[in-house]
Amino acid sequence: MKKIYFASGNDHKRKEIEALFPSYEIVLPKDEGIEFNPVEDGMSFVENASIKAKALWNIVHAPTLADDSGLSVDALSGRPGIYSARYGEKDGKRLEDSERNKLLLSELRDVQDRSAHFVSALVFIFDENRTYSIEERVDGKIAYVPSGSHGFGYDPIFIIDGIERNMAELSDEEKNIYSHRAKSSALMNIIMKNIWR
Ligand code: IMP
Repeated sequence: MKKIYFASGNDHKRKEIEALFPSYEIVLPKDEGIEFNPVEDGMSFVENASIKAKALWNIVHAPTLADDSGLSVDALSGRPGIYSARYGEKDGKRLEDSERNKLLLSELRDVQDRSAHFVSALVFIFDENRTYSIEERVDGKIAYVPSGSHGFGYDPIFIIDGIERNMAELSDEEKNIYSHRAKSSALMNIIMKNIWR
């Protein structure tokens, strides 16, 4: 099987990426004892995905994929956006997913406009000369209360437009049809299939 290094330490993302790229073996830096903690100081999802992909490529010199993703809330001028993982962080200590969701719901307590979207930027470095970037999104609304037990992160408080269900109410298979990461991965699979024979 063709091997792709996935520039992440997040086991939830690994599980999704493995299902979304079924023709490839997905290897995380930690699987090979590689210390990997790049500074994500880009100004966009694509920039941050690129920082992660390049950092890992510089270590492994083999096909490398990175995802940078997050939740953008219209009423909060796009926050937490690229800072989704760090939202509510104090003194460098990250909140649990459920604490972050509680904080976001409290920020939106009296807010009528609940529109939001999830973003997934994928950057794939195939070799020195070929790097591919894709950004996709799924539109929805922030719920008033969390619901569902699947997925991770902000899934319990995000209602997907069109199907009107919380992301965390979807099975893994369903999330991998509707999510932001499912959309970006579908396109990236097409690129990979075409360049990697
Ligand atoms: P990253 O590892 O810097 O890309 O952090 C992304 C953060 O955005 C995660 O820690 C989650 O809080 C949130 N996030 C990204 N993708 C998802 C998703 O599919 N569902 C729910 N939350 C997500």
